[in-house]
Amino acid sequence: MTEAEKERMRQIEEIYRRNGTDSFGQWGSVDHHTLYTEPVEPRSRRRCCCGCKRRATHRGMANGLAMMAGCEWSVAKWIRDNHHKEDSKHG
Ligand SMILES: [Zn+2]
Repeated sequence: MTEAEKERMRQIEEIYRRNGTDSFGQWGSVDHHTLYTEPVEPRSRRRCCCGCKRRATHRGMANGLAMMAGCEWSVAKWIRDNHHKEDSKHG
């Protein structure tokens, strides 16, 4: 890990600590954590899982951990689907 990467990890951890998520990076769950998307490094050649045959350009993240990877559309859909699940749980 480079110094710049370590610094970025510290900044992310600080943000999460301030928000009260002290288990950041240790475990992630689509049911317990806010989901967000992050771009994948351009050198990654992982394929998307949705059948579009494109490269997985984004990751679906929860609590600092990658839960899935796919094209921008499939990650957005994954977040939407799981947020919907969250809504129905409270309803
Ligand atoms: Zn796709």
